[in-house]
Amino acid sequence: MLLRPDVYSFDFGAFRIAALLDATDIRGGLAASFALGEPDAHVRELAVTNFIDPDRFEHPFIPIFIDTGAAKILFDTGLGAPESALLPSLARIGVAPGVVDIVVLTHGHPDHIGGLRAGASLVFPRARYVFGAAEFDFWVRGENVRQARRADRELFMRSCAPLADSATFVNPGDEILPGISAIDAAGHSPGLLAWRIASEGKQLLIWSDTCLHYIVSLQRPDWQATVDDDKEKAAGTRRHLLAFAADERLLVAGYHMPFPGLGFVERVKDTFRWIPVSYQLNL
Ligand SMILES: [Zn+2]
Repeated sequence: MLLRPDVYSFDFGAFRIAALLDATDIRGGLAASFALGEPDAHVRELAVTNFIDPDRFEHPFIPIFIDTGAAKILFDTGLGAPESALLPSLARIGVAPGVVDIVVLTHGHPDHIGGLRAGASLVFPRARYVFGAAEFDFWVRGENVRQARRADRELFMRSCAPLADSATFVNPGDEILPGISAIDAAGHSPGLLAWRIASEGKQLLIWSDTCLHYIVSLQRPDWQATVDDDKEKAAGTRRHLLAFAADERLLVAGYHMPFPGLGFVERVKDTFRWIPVSYQLNL
């Protein structure tokens, strides 16, 4: 039996935060996924230099739960059954689905909205749902949805569109609660939102899918990823938020970074490096 950590919680200012591993995929095609058009040798060299497999990679899915004291907030809902470990992980930190007050969807892709429903019913029955206005509008309109995302739109229309009347729609800069505000991260999806979490002088950046791989996205931020909808814009956003995280020395929560998906960003010449958390959050 293999045992690996899948829940990591810590106090952050007045907030208690938990990173919850929903699932992990092992995928082939590091180059095909994150380095479109780049010479294969460059990808291999980058992988070998960083002690990772040049072909296969681990792709984790890590929702973030925040208890502010006044509200219990879940950022993204994972893949949904049957792969999902989100609900058992929430149970381990003492959180039943019925006590979640707010569910924030950073964007409309299936690995983020997949856990909203079990069959037709809502998994978090009491929650208020928060969507980026531009993201919600994009999926509901259904214009310019690229071929690879057609099935994603069908899921969005089944799962999220019926929430239109009760949901809260936000734009970059909006604050949903004191210290919790949206940041424009469009590119990977048309209305992707990152979130800035501030409490008692501490700041966390939830960058969702701005970076998709902890080596490639940071050390080669301009390389293009297959799953980024607007690849140039996604690369621009990536550079912008990486610089922001590095210069402000922010703690970062990355949905697809290695578990617990928490770390810092260091500038290295004109690119960046992911510094995973060690004991900073335990002190
Ligand atoms: Zn994702």
